[in-house]
Amino acid sequence: MTTRPASLTHSINLPGVDMFTLPPIEKVSVVIPVFNEEESLPELLRRTTASCDSLGIAYEILLVDDGSSDNSALMLSEAAEQPGSHVVAVMLNRNYGQHSAIMAGFSHVSGDLVITLDADLQNPPEEIPALVEKAKEGYDVVGTVRQNRQDSLFRKLASRTINRLIQRATGKAMGDYGCMLRAYRRHIVDAMLRCHERSTFIPILANTFARKAIEIPVHHAVREYGDSKYSFMRLINLMYDLVTCLTTTPLRLLSVFGSVIALLGFSLSVLLVVLRLTFGPQWGGEGMFMLFAILFTFIGAQFIGMGLLGEYIGRIYNDVRARPRYFIQRVVRHDRTLSSEEKE
Ligand code: UDP
Ligand code: MG
Repeated sequence: MTTRPASLTHSINLPGVDMFTLPPIEKVSVVIPVFNEEESLPELLRRTTASCDSLGIAYEILLVDDGSSDNSALMLSEAAEQPGSHVVAVMLNRNYGQHSAIMAGFSHVSGDLVITLDADLQNPPEEIPALVEKAKEGYDVVGTVRQNRQDSLFRKLASRTINRLIQRATGKAMGDYGCMLRAYRRHIVDAMLRCHERSTFIPILANTFARKAIEIPVHHAVREYGDSKYSFMRLINLMYDLVTCLTTTPLRLLSVFGSVIALLGFSLSVLLVVLRLTFGPQWGGEGMFMLFAILFTFIGAQFIGMGLLGEYIGRIYNDVRARPRYFIQRVVRHDRTLSSEEKE
């Protein structure tokens, strides 16, 4: 393999983390969403199996067929039915989208560490051991940053803008939310499964539960078989999923915008009155400017009203998606330690 670029990029470290040891990783689950990927499946299975074999611990490869119309589903069930196979095939009845497919896979994992990656081999499965190693150091989310990303210029620019917005919105320096090659400790996956929103964006959702997260650089390959499953419209949808998953700030911005316009309109009207009284009727402009000033004030007031409505909608939205308010990872008592699973 080529030499890895400089190690650690960003990390979120909370004080007191060291006293909080994570359970050992005894089994790894790899979750891969598959949508019409029949050409890449044989190579994907071969390379992922080889990479997981090299870990020297138990593993399973969950492939979720997201309603493919080609032979993918058949190939997956054949791979899963072979004696001693590490493959688990999860079939969805229709196409629900990449993130829903991954969530479906999450609901069937049995490992302590869950790794997601794409089926089109743009995320090299050979990176899996690096993710496992990093997770062993005590991180509960291991993200990745694609080095020399092999996508169209439009995709790269859009990603960069969104990444920057996310960093500003969350204050967390995570460099590449779009890369799905990621590792999550089991408790993070359990927490995500308890979120009830229909559209979601997994890396962002995971980050809301992460205590200690890090990103490592990974390689990125060109898509060799088939085309991207994201049309322009689907990308726009994905972007909305990402923003709504992350924040309700855009709704709040309506009030801010409204307040600025209303204030400007009001200041303009005061200024016009002063000018008219000080310098004479020529400053009145036959009421024209005054009309604009009043109009701005009212438009601003409307936006403030919309922002207020948005504030309520945002709160309703937060309640409807019923994300867990908190997630108890472990309870320590003098007699024994309960993990989150044991309690259920
Ligand atoms: N995918 C999916 N359902 C969809 C769209 C995509 O399961 O509706 C899978 C696809 O098979 C691949 C991964 O999601 O494994 C990423 O898709 P793609 O490579 O098309 O996205 P891109 O790399 O262009 O962002
Ligand atoms: Mg791809």
